[in-house]
Amino acid sequence: MKLLRYGAVGAERPGVVDNEGNIRDLGEIISDIGPSTLSRQRLDELRSLDISSLPVVSADVRLGPPVAYVRHFIAVGLNYIDHATETNTPVPDEPVVFSKAPSCISGPYDAIPMPADSKMLDWEAEIAVVIGEKAYQVAENDALSVVAGYLLCHDVSERRDQIHRGGQWMKGKSRPGFGPLGPWLVTFDEVADPQNLEIWLKVNGATRQSGTTAKMIFPFAHLISYISHFMALEPGDVITTGTPHGVGLGMKPPQFLKEGDIVELGATGLGTQRQLVVESGGCIARDAQVDEPANKGSPF
Ligand code: ZN
Repeated sequence: MKLLRYGAVGAERPGVVDNEGNIRDLGEIISDIGPSTLSRQRLDELRSLDISSLPVVSADVRLGPPVAYVRHFIAVGLNYIDHATETNTPVPDEPVVFSKAPSCISGPYDAIPMPADSKMLDWEAEIAVVIGEKAYQVAENDALSVVAGYLLCHDVSERRDQIHRGGQWMKGKSRPGFGPLGPWLVTFDEVADPQNLEIWLKVNGATRQSGTTAKMIFPFAHLISYISHFMALEPGDVITTGTPHGVGLGMKPPQFLKEGDIVELGATGLGTQRQLVVESGGCIARDAQVDEPANKGSPF
């Protein structure tokens, strides 16, 4: 299944893509796509529905991030050898793990608000997993069984804030609009081999990144197992798994995004994103969706 959320910022409704590519509204079935809808059992229930009777949604509707109520947005740095090389950093012995603030999450076609003082706004096309089951110290062999699905993630990065503001990458990764997700959450059963996905990114039509998850240093299962050693992963958590080579910081000379630039990215089977870089005054401020309402059947 390709699950999505559509509608105005902060008022998204759940939807699903049918076999003809139409969006069907799921609002009569579930009230949202979040922690309480991502278990394998709940996904099986959704998969068994006859969605042909559900209302078709206009194709030009805004898409939001495909998952709501994200509590942990975890990222992995330097997970492709050629990206570590281009950024002049050693290939890590263990995964480099950092956080993105969940309040940075945005829709796949929403504009990227450029901070007023930004000089080093950079792009990173990535593939993320969405956790569907609680997982604490899960074995690598079992790690993919806690994945609800996969989605495209743009790990937008301000390099000065990431590198030159006293440490902790979170500072450069968390501004509003720095976490476009989607267009869809593609459920695990439709991704036959997550370690064989092409991923690409263009800026103003010029290809900047072209990679494959076959070249990840630490594969998905290892990352989930590794991170779950240090924290209990929960349904709805998002882990984005690093970017291949071709970021602006690695170009000679380095190139960074400016107002008016258009970034497009995509990955095998996971759809495409497109964002316009705008001055931060053009940002649609939104509140972080922190608490899933109790009437949605959340087990928490
Ligand atoms: Zn990244």
